[in-house]
Amino acid sequence: MEKTETSTSNNPGEIPMVGDHLALDLLNTEMRVGNESVDLWRSGKDVYAWLGRHNLVAGASIAAAEEKILLGQARELRAHARQLIEQWKNGQMGDVQPLNKFLDLYTSAPQVMTNENGRLVMTRVAKADPVANLLGPVAEAVAQLLTDGELDLVKKCAHPECILWFYDRTKSHKRRWCSMASCGNRHKAAQFRKKVGTT
Ligand SMILES: [Zn+2]
Repeated sequence: MEKTETSTSNNPGEIPMVGDHLALDLLNTEMRVGNESVDLWRSGKDVYAWLGRHNLVAGASIAAAEEKILLGQARELRAHARQLIEQWKNGQMGDVQPLNKFLDLYTSAPQVMTNENGRLVMTRVAKADPVANLLGPVAEAVAQLLTDGELDLVKKCAHPECILWFYDRTKSHKRRWCSMASCGNRHKAAQFRKKVGTT
């Protein structure tokens, strides 16, 4: 019953989108396969594709020379986010300085533009370097989660072998699994095996 093969390891398009919050989907770009932690970001292209899936690359492009920097910076941001979110979950106050550094790099300025109805609207235009522009909204999502998020709704999948996180937006707030199709079913199958006495 248990799935042994994994289809998530090679294609960044298959990175799980189960977090229901950008900051938690950020953590979910690392997952457990068997006993191993697997980084689903193996290149700057992977990071760029992931940002694209979250609609965060509008108008932004990345030069080949910047791909490596993007990968390094994105991994760094993810590591800080993981530490802060895990500490928060454990009732501890983490060091927010590294996160603030990412936020500080994400400079923008207000601009007046004409919208599709011919009306003037004010919008903010990113002014930082391309990598900081791309990662700024992700850093902001982490900051938003830590300051506005409801701690009880920030949950780690209940399956002991899973390291995925999600924001529980269900009405009953009883969501337990990253996905019913994978971990929920793995759990049900294990319970069933216990009940019928097989292992
Ligand atoms: Zn899970």
